[in-house]
Amino acid sequence: MGEVDRSRLDSLIQRERARFEELHPTSKALAERAKQSLLYGVPMNWMTRWPGAFPIFVRQATGAHFFDVDRLGYVDLCLGDTGAMAGHSPPPAVERIIDRIPEGLTFMLPTEDALWVGEELQRRFGLPMWQFCLTATDANRFVLRLARQITGRPKVVVHNWSYHGTVDETLATLDPKGRVVPRQGNIGPQVDPALTTKVVEFNDVEGLEKALAPGDVACVLVEPALTNVGIVLPEPGYHERLRELTAKSGTLLVLDETHTICSGTGGYTKAYGLQPDFLTIGKPLASGLPAAAYGMTTEVAERIVAATAWHEIDVGGIGGTLAANALSLAAMRATLEHVLTDAAFERMIGLGVRFTEGVEKVIADFQLPWHVTRLGCRAEYLFQPNPPRTGAEAAAQADHQLDAFLHLYCLNRGILLTPFHNMALMSPATSEADVDLHTQVFGEAAAELVG
Ligand code: PMP
Repeated sequence: MGEVDRSRLDSLIQRERARFEELHPTSKALAERAKQSLLYGVPMNWMTRWPGAFPIFVRQATGAHFFDVDRLGYVDLCLGDTGAMAGHSPPPAVERIIDRIPEGLTFMLPTEDALWVGEELQRRFGLPMWQFCLTATDANRFVLRLARQITGRPKVVVHNWSYHGTVDETLATLDPKGRVVPRQGNIGPQVDPALTTKVVEFNDVEGLEKALAPGDVACVLVEPALTNVGIVLPEPGYHERLRELTAKSGTLLVLDETHTICSGTGGYTKAYGLQPDFLTIGKPLASGLPAAAYGMTTEVAERIVAATAWHEIDVGGIGGTLAANALSLAAMRATLEHVLTDAAFERMIGLGVRFTEGVEKVIADFQLPWHVTRLGCRAEYLFQPNPPRTGAEAAAQADHQLDAFLHLYCLNRGILLTPFHNMALMSPATSEADVDLHTQVFGEAAAELVG
């Protein structure tokens, strides 16, 4: 087995940090200036969570590539953590967005594009009724409210170490004794999440059964495969049991396809014939403009209509003035019609396979105790030999030092991975050469690590 020499790793990280600073004088100057006006020196707090001493500032992007303000070019395998999965500024979406701009952007009235998108989402995911909002966070937040309203039950179930956006009920984990606690770093929770939430491990049928038994759970909100703590795939039969147990206990099943859309045009749901009561999705739907959607069965739709007073519908905690605006819907239509198509997914998934095979070969060549997991056109490597079964196992396997090294090593050689973990995503604009550059750089990093 190849061994990573940790003292060598320390000095490699120092070397890469110094190289990063040398390569990015303009970003460094902007980062200094930003500290005078922006909290943490960034427009959004988690933009600090990159491995260099400061974030690189982006100048321009096209397709699967971008240039920073120091005029260095990158292959973008992060793609805005799925927000740019359609590729940066794909021409059919740009054309439609530009056409829409002089025609009016937001009305509090529908445009015909909404119908087209609703019908297309029906076709893709098999759910008949749809609503639109601006972010996946909002889609999840609204669905949790609706689920509580129509079931009259107070609690929700999420998986341990899942992520569904900045949704209060979902920022909870299990402590070592199996108690629900606020997720580490949870900023000012409004109430103790143990009051709103039950947390079960992914793939834990028994735990799920126990959580649903008292009949107080409105819905189970899950990603079909975990993608926010590395990738954790469902074991054979898990989804069948999840569906059976939720149906049996009168609990609604909500699938969050925001990341697992990487499995195909209709996400994991279509690819594996799943049958949720609600489905939520955001991020890539409008090629990077804010847009999200949630779908539901006819039965759920009827229950919602029956439970909601028409004259109070505007103040019920669901909505947003800019939700379903004409610009987002025009961009969604163009993205679904011309960019994230069936043919595009076929190519993207092929690139995901190529990426995974490249990484597997490096791991085998250097006999490293690591593994790589693929979900459609998304792949992730973990610095442990065996794929985790649960979120807790995946979280325990994290190696922050190696993560930081790999990210910085790749960044210094023109490749951007997804922050917080070692995730790579393929867009319709990604090429085989882009994937092969990663394989080459990953191989060089492995060679340096084993010495
Ligand atoms: N659901 C999942 C599965 C996600 O991964 C995320 C964000 N990473 C969200 C929802 C929230 O998306 P947004 O931050 O765009 O609201």
